[in-house]
Amino acid sequence: MSRTSDYAPIDDSGELARIVDGLCANQEAVAALEAEAVLHFAAGMRIALDRMAARPRPQQTREMELRAVAAEIGLALRLNDRTVQRRMNDALELTEKFPATVDGLSAGRITLRHAMAICDAGAVVEEPRERAAFEEVVLERAERETVARTKAFAVALAERMRPESITARFQRAVQARMVAVTEIDDGMAQVRAILPAAEAFAVHDRLTRQARAIRAIATEPDEGTPSQPTGEGVSVHDTRTLDQIRADLFCDLLLTGQPAIDPTRDRLPGGLGAIRAEIQVTVPALTAAGQDDRGASIEGKAPIDAETARRLMAGCPGWDRILTHPVTGMVLAVDRYRAGATMERFLAARDVHCRFPGCRQPARLCDHDHNLDWARGGTTDVCNMACLCRRHHTLKTETEWAAEQLPDGSIRWTSPLQRDYVDEPTPRVVFLRDGDPPPF
Ligand SMILES: [Zn+2]
Repeated sequence: MSRTSDYAPIDDSGELARIVDGLCANQEAVAALEAEAVLHFAAGMRIALDRMAARPRPQQTREMELRAVAAEIGLALRLNDRTVQRRMNDALELTEKFPATVDGLSAGRITLRHAMAICDAGAVVEEPRERAAFEEVVLERAERETVARTKAFAVALAERMRPESITARFQRAVQARMVAVTEIDDGMAQVRAILPAAEAFAVHDRLTRQARAIRAIATEPDEGTPSQPTGEGVSVHDTRTLDQIRADLFCDLLLTGQPAIDPTRDRLPGGLGAIRAEIQVTVPALTAAGQDDRGASIEGKAPIDAETARRLMAGCPGWDRILTHPVTGMVLAVDRYRAGATMERFLAARDVHCRFPGCRQPARLCDHDHNLDWARGGTTDVCNMACLCRRHHTLKTETEWAAEQLPDGSIRWTSPLQRDYVDEPTPRVVFLRDGDPPPF
């Protein structure tokens, strides 16, 4: 494997080191200024709230006080007054509910985007003591991680602390499933996929016609017995709305359909239609056993309801048992209820995503890298292996970036400028039971 050191080195490391130091100092200074701005916006909001409280009703008169303050600040800053109103709201929320985060921003330890990620995710944690515990844990992480990883961690932790379970919220939200097409510029339209408008509207039209055909033979709940033959056809008990049926057909066709044009037909058994979707689902043991309904997630980020998680588990040919440390949540061991490549499964469970600092490429799309190259005596065991996406795997093999795995599964990355960055394995979010003190 050729490394860049094989070429004549260019001696610009000193300059690059100064640039990196300069940018770090700059980011700290910007963060401190952002913290000042947050305090100003929050103070502005407090003035507006005081003025509103001093006004007699109706609400509309009070609202005018808020708008007047927002417009005063907005015009001076050349910002839209609605934007200012939103920033005042956010700033008040941040200073009142997450004071340690504002301190961290002031000290330049995190950026404004980190702070907003903590505030946005933590808004659902209503109890002040729990919120403070949440803030402490997430803030500590924000000081070492990118905004994206901090956000994912914060959302998962907040999810565990929400008073209303994901199951209840999912049952309500799933009723609103739908497929919609929106026209966008230049002859295109959006079904959340960017498509030529003709295809996009055709997709919607086909789903609508199929949904109508289903509705046409459906009986309402009080209209006779389900699945009774009715004259020529069969009537089906179905109370779904047109929107819901369209959404179900959309998933069904994409997840099970066979493409009309399939160049692989002669080469792959079953062609493209035989390729099935794969997702990584994490389900806590108590949730799997039906004794709890929290903590299940897709690819370590999107929380899902327990019923869906259990249904996915039931339809799965095998699954991994992951033993985690009861306090830190670190993955200790993995075994499988079916033969399989245990080590790869361990890596996917422990790493969740690529282990280059800040990267969130899911483990199933990653290579398994020997931290110390096999060719240089590195062993093929989990203490020397990690998931790396193709981009960062190549960076490690082709440049002077080096990685060393520490006994706790952390990976110390050393940059060509000899700067160290430690990437810790993603801790599983730890159980919070009602009434228990936060476990951290
Ligand atoms: Zn990566």
